[in-house]
Amino acid sequence: MYQGSFSSPVQHSLKIVTSFTILRDFVQKITSGASNVKILSIVPAESDPHVYQPTPLDGKTLTEADIIFINGLDFEKGIERMLKSTDTKATISVATKYVKARDDLKDPHTWHNVKNAMLYVKEITKTLSEADPNNAQLYKKNSDLLLKELQELETWIHHKLSKIPPTQRIVVTTHDAFWYFGQAYNIKFMSPIGISTEAEASAQDVAALINFIREHKIKAVFVENLANPRLIEQIARETNNPLQGTLYADSLSIPDGPAPDYISMMEHNVQTICKALQQ
Ligand SMILES: [Zn+2]
Repeated sequence: MYQGSFSSPVQHSLKIVTSFTILRDFVQKITSGASNVKILSIVPAESDPHVYQPTPLDGKTLTEADIIFINGLDFEKGIERMLKSTDTKATISVATKYVKARDDLKDPHTWHNVKNAMLYVKEITKTLSEADPNNAQLYKKNSDLLLKELQELETWIHHKLSKIPPTQRIVVTTHDAFWYFGQAYNIKFMSPIGISTEAEASAQDVAALINFIREHKIKAVFVENLANPRLIEQIARETNNPLQGTLYADSLSIPDGPAPDYISMMEHNVQTICKALQQ
């Protein structure tokens, strides 16, 4: 589902493009009430930004934009490639600009730590206010409200997870998307596939993971909303584990789904993880 184009009868003075749904959500919340703003997002909900190939229409959208928000850390490789080949004059804002990334790995999934999401919001607000100073006050007000909600979310996550004993804090999921979540909230995540869904698991890694699950009697095995579920289904079967639900890793859900915005995504993931770990 493509979300329209900039060539509509209504003229918008600030044309914004976001690479994927989580950035779209933040930009929408921060610009709420600004009538001159039009936001288009390239990778739709329930699509995988790691492997997304932009279309010629996406190229036109990028060329016409005033601001383009991307995650960075090699997350949206296809979009970054296209940006290099278009002559867009847009301001390109990298949401992870102030985020401390994982060691020397380019692990882009930094938003799974709410404190990092707050840094995204600050960078987005700064970029918007510089591009559209007339609305800077509105953006600041919306941004402060969002930061307050994110702070409440952070407190809630710590409280919710505090009930889980340290020995039970191991979760198995499809690809290595939750390292930042694990660091922030003290959960160990394991997965057969690496940082990008493009990677393939080796038979040896899968066998080692299956042994580990058996040995430690791990019950929390999850599919993700985007990545191919076949391998994780096989691992669940071989370890006699029913799958414990779906975690939202790299994209929000459609509006009627369980994770239509960032806060509901985090709440859904935490509740799903807690339920599995408290069995
Ligand atoms: Zn990912």
